Amino acid sequence: MQGITVLGSTGSIGKSTLDVVARHADRYKIIALTANQQDELLFAQCLQFNPQYAVLLDEAAAARLTVRIQTSALDTTVLCGAAALEKVATLPNVDAVMAAIVGAAGMPPTLAAARAGKKIMLANKETLVLAGHLFMEAIHASGSALLPIDSEHNAIFQSLPANYTGDMRTSGVSKILLTASGGPFRNTSLAQLQHVTPDQACAHPNWSMGRKISVDSASMMNKGLEVIEAHWLFNVPADDIQVVVHPQSVIHSMVQYVDGSVLAQLGNPDMRTPIAYALAYPQRIDSGVAPLDLFQIAKLDFVAPDFVRFPCLGLAYQALRAGGTTPALLNAANEVAVAAFLEQRIAFLDIPRLIEAVLGNVTQCEVTALQDVLDADAAARRAATDWIARC
Ligand code: NAD
Ligand code: MG
Repeated sequence: MQGITVLGSTGSIGKSTLDVVARHADRYKIIALTANQQDELLFAQCLQFNPQYAVLLDEAAAARLTVRIQTSALDTTVLCGAAALEKVATLPNVDAVMAAIVGAAGMPPTLAAARAGKKIMLANKETLVLAGHLFMEAIHASGSALLPIDSEHNAIFQSLPANYTGDMRTSGVSKILLTASGGPFRNTSLAQLQHVTPDQACAHPNWSMGRKISVDSASMMNKGLEVIEAHWLFNVPADDIQVVVHPQSVIHSMVQYVDGSVLAQLGNPDMRTPIAYALAYPQRIDSGVAPLDLFQIAKLDFVAPDFVRFPCLGLAYQALRAGGTTPALLNAANEVAVAAFLEQRIAFLDIPRLIEAVLGNVTQCEVTALQDVLDADAAARRAATDWIARC
């Protein structure tokens, strides 16, 4: 029986995780569930999974949940605030943590879980973008198992040698081929991109996801963040990570070897596949995902990414090459920009403009401790907020 904490249980990944867990009640016990402020949904999840702890970031929502729990037959303890996230990610009876909070807020509890030696199922890519070096150091120091949930990285993990040591050269790996759907604006002209709305940006053709990552997919910043994520997970330099636009989202990514072989992982676009893989690793369990019907798919297309219509992709490569706190600046500027776009305060094409301005104005430095990352994150958020106020 694995004890599991799901950070961000009310989100898209969180709900898919609970769907897989519910199929295997004999293998997994939910110890803690957490959310930002969705107390109603969290209460329904508590009724189904009877966790030891339920955490809400928002104080008023936590008070409402406490009342609901008290009037139910549950004995779940309700906690509140960011410190409680770290607590439930590091409890002695927790074996594995699903890191599925969106944004930089997900980094501290994920890092705490890695330091505590928990098995990490990593959906929160921002942890690696912000603090890749510190996080991987924590994983190696504590001996934690790290299983990527992002479909591309899960596919790469599955396509690398089973005993991959983190040295691509001695493993015969020549390139990582990171696939991208191209998002809802794959064929939209630059002129039209200026006027697209949040709802259009969130209408992803293949995947159903939270609104923030949906906008990132539309701007291709998601792919940029994933390039940085792949760099840290697999110890591969930016030059050896090639983005391949593949509109069908059937191949979830590939590994190219020096002998000419290319290994890929395929499947229907449903996050329950990588989630089930990470939960049961190295075994395989039913995820509820329908088998792939190749005759129905019939053909697979591949095109090169367009760095002109999607400048966010180039900015992410640039941040990875610059190193230090630059990826943290990129991430924070992007979070502020996406939130402003979703609130219709800036236009879609302002997202890369704002990020470029922040990267140009905020001084980057080396990362020696977590505080360097937190300071960079705060400075970039201030600069981004000022930029929006002026525009
Ligand atoms: P979502 O918006 O659907 O859910 C986010 C969850 O985090 C919710 O439970 C919410 O309550 C919680 N949350 C939000 N802000 C918080 C805060 N400040 N403090 C604590 N909790 C907070 O997001 P999602 O689509 O499930 O994505 C979650 C993470 O997984 C992101 O990092 C995303 O990049 C990554 N990811 C998602 C998908 C996908 O298919 N949805 C695929 C790959 C990677
Ligand atoms: Mg992905």
